[in-house]
Amino acid sequence: MREYVTMVCKECSNRNYRTSKKTQQTEKLELRKFCNYCRKHTGHKEYKK
Ligand SMILES: [Zn+2]
Repeated sequence: MREYVTMVCKECSNRNYRTSKKTQQTEKLELRKFCNYCRKHTGHKEYKK
């Protein structure tokens, strides 16, 4: 079973990406992604509902 999470840019707080992770995975996801608003690669963290 998979849980869908939203990835939020740490610099501008835009929700840029959606991804899935395994439900057993408890630690927060953190990825470097290209942000269209910052126009560069930034750290994206999991958006907490
Ligand atoms: Zn950004």
